[in-house]
Amino acid sequence: KGANVVNSPERTLAMIKPDAMKAGKAGEIIEKIEAAGFVVVASKEHSLTNAQAAEFYAEHEGKSFFNELINFMTSGPVTALLLEKPGAIKGWRALMGPTNTAKAREEAPDSLRALFGTDGTMNATHGSDSFISAAREGAFWFPGALVQERTLAMIKPIISELN
Ligand code: ADP
Ligand code: MG
Repeated sequence: KGANVVNSPERTLAMIKPDAMKAGKAGEIIEKIEAAGFVVVASKEHSLTNAQAAEFYAEHEGKSFFNELINFMTSGPVTALLLEKPGAIKGWRALMGPTNTAKAREEAPDSLRALFGTDGTMNATHGSDSFISAAREGAFWFPGALVQERTLAMIKPIISELN
């Protein structure tokens, strides 16, 4: 029981950010995602409200770049993508490249952020940085669609305790 809700291969949550959306690069980015072997399980285009962006990026509240980040992320529509592939979480981070666009261009010139990013804040794409983040961010965009095997392993003892 429960095996039907486990995602294997692994899933992660990606976003195409407003800079790349405005530049008309969403199609090209999705082509590169699929060429790298990811399956796009679900996608959703949406303009985040301030409250939604602040909730999504709650871990960065209070940081120097937080307001700039929220302004950017609410400046136009984003496309959220649920991606599936063995090792999807790390694999998608690698395909995106480093956070800062200039650093991405130096260190990973073929990465999506090198190719489509703008600067330190406007960097074309988002990707969950851990399986816990993937579970939280996946639930934010696609409720119920992202339950990792490792998450299930963690909650199993709690469920049996409750039974
Ligand atoms: P990542 O998106 O690579 O996981 P972080 O979680 O550290 O990076 O930051 C979230 C987002 O906030 C980044 O993608 C970028 O848009 C923005 N950001 C991060 N660090 C900075 C910074 N030093 N200056 C401006 N914006 C930043
Ligand atoms: Mg992050």
